[in-house]
Amino acid sequence: MQNNQPERNINLKLRYIAKAFVVLILIIASAVIVYCMGGTGSAFAHIMYLPIILSAYYFGIVGSVVTAILGGLALGPHMYENVSSELMQQSSIWIVRLIVFITFGIIISLLFMRIKGYEKEEAERSHVNLLTGLPNANKLKVDLDELIESKTEFSLIGFRIENINNIKQNISYETGVKSIKKALEILSELTDSTAYSIDDNTFAIVLPSGRIENAQTLGERFLYKTFEPVLIDQIKIGLLIKCGIVNFPLHAEDSYEMITKINMVLEQAKGEIGLYIYNGVLEKKSKSRSELVPHLLNAINNNEFYLVYQPKESIIDDGTISVEALLRWNNPTIGQISPSEFIVTAEEIGLIGEITKWVIKNVIEQKEKWKKTGLDVKIAFNISPKDLNNNSVMNYFIEVINNKELDLSLLEVELTERAVLENREIVIMLFNALRKIGIKIALDDFGTGYNSLINLVQFPADHIKIDKKFIDNITENTYKLVIKYTIGSAHRLGRKVVAEGVETKEQFDILKNIGCDYIQGYYISKPILPDELEDYLASKSPCQPV
Ligand code: C2E
Ligand code: CA
Ligand code: CA
Repeated sequence: MQNNQPERNINLKLRYIAKAFVVLILIIASAVIVYCMGGTGSAFAHIMYLPIILSAYYFGIVGSVVTAILGGLALGPHMYENVSSELMQQSSIWIVRLIVFITFGIIISLLFMRIKGYEKEEAERSHVNLLTGLPNANKLKVDLDELIESKTEFSLIGFRIENINNIKQNISYETGVKSIKKALEILSELTDSTAYSIDDNTFAIVLPSGRIENAQTLGERFLYKTFEPVLIDQIKIGLLIKCGIVNFPLHAEDSYEMITKINMVLEQAKGEIGLYIYNGVLEKKSKSRSELVPHLLNAINNNEFYLVYQPKESIIDDGTISVEALLRWNNPTIGQISPSEFIVTAEEIGLIGEITKWVIKNVIEQKEKWKKTGLDVKIAFNISPKDLNNNSVMNYFIEVINNKELDLSLLEVELTERAVLENREIVIMLFNALRKIGIKIALDDFGTGYNSLINLVQFPADHIKIDKKFIDNITENTYKLVIKYTIGSAHRLGRKVVAEGVETKEQFDILKNIGCDYIQGYYISKPILPDELEDYLASKSPCQPV
């Protein structure tokens, strides 16, 4: 934030001179008023306190003493005590007045110093993040305003540790704080720019007059440097970092917009890591999110939801082990909306519980319908992490399974690895309770959480579903090795492994070779409507629920 410094110094000097000039004029004006009003014997002699007070405020002790001396001399030996009778003052009177002026100047400037000290402390406090000790978003805003005023191009680079909550919950809060400090330390090795804490886990630096490409290079170097696990209190911690870039004047016009947009960039693709540059699509997305809400509130009542089912099959003999119920929403005004989009919104507005109940109800109804036609297929359904702390959903689920005559081993609950990590205790209890009554549990999106192999040991899930991102890259040797190792570890712990999002024969063959148990993906079937699924299953060997 060093540019424009000479210009700023000149401005400061000019202001200083202007203030001194005002004080001088006030001294002269006061002396003239005293003279016109009859001399120092009149009460108007006190008017000289005004320039002294002003000078104490502007310039502190030295300024107020100089002003007191000038003021005292202006009302000194040459000034009449009484102008009309041309009576001069006794020396002792004007000397005492001079001393009183000086003493007054010193006291009043000490008072001002005290008040300004408080103000400064307060301003500093409001500009600092208490956890990191770094300048905060208020200070960032002030500094951005200055840069924007100077109309130079600059970029704001933000970053956030995506797995910070996992680190705080699974290791310790202190380790979380140390991880943040470690990341900031690595950043400071790459740049001299000041780091700001936008909040406890969102940081930003400003690259003045930096082109967007420079910001990109810095962001990439930072990500590269934090790719290796860092050592904190003898523990190796993997930091999953997301960086975002917003450029002035390319993406924003003022400081408020810049800070809002850097938050938007960091909010996108929650949990993902990497470097993201702001683009307008983001804004459209979050706008349409607020458009979704009024429609979403009525979606259940207006019967706009329906379920599709996607089979999971054994990799050895293509027998269907279960089908996963996936929610679909078709709104007459805004059309078909993907669950990846509306589930998040439903979670944000507290509607997810009602949606999960709807899913449970419909899954059970479908189950009973299929049973009547002789199709005894296991159905898996997804629940949201928000449901775990929602008694109404849990009670509804218990009530439904108690009141219906269901083969509970033909039900499976899918919960993402990340949801599991954020609700550790409650999830272990729930998993144990569900397994006791025969309901199977699958750990969804496996591999996207923090320290996945430890989670494998700690959570009593029946199946783990390796996330599609790993399968997408399975033709690369390192990915293949990681998947093979994960499958081996899962097997040793008695868990079965499902590969998600299998799309090609090549992926299928590799998975078969490295011992994966089950697969799900477009290679076998897309999610399909219940009657399509009936036809699909009729053409195959009987289901083999596991
Ligand atoms: P998920 O549970 O991981 O579901 C897998 C997603 O991958 C589904 O997307 C599925 O259609 C898609 N998929 C499956 N195989 C392939 C493939 O070979 N290639 C590609 N490109 N995609 C494949 P979908 O149905 O859009 O659901 C997205 C996510 O929304 C789900 O991820 C799940 O997290 C959530 N979701 C869906 N239905 C529900 C629900 O009823 N309740 C809750 N809480 N979440 C749901
Ligand atoms: Ca799932
Ligand atoms: Ca998944």
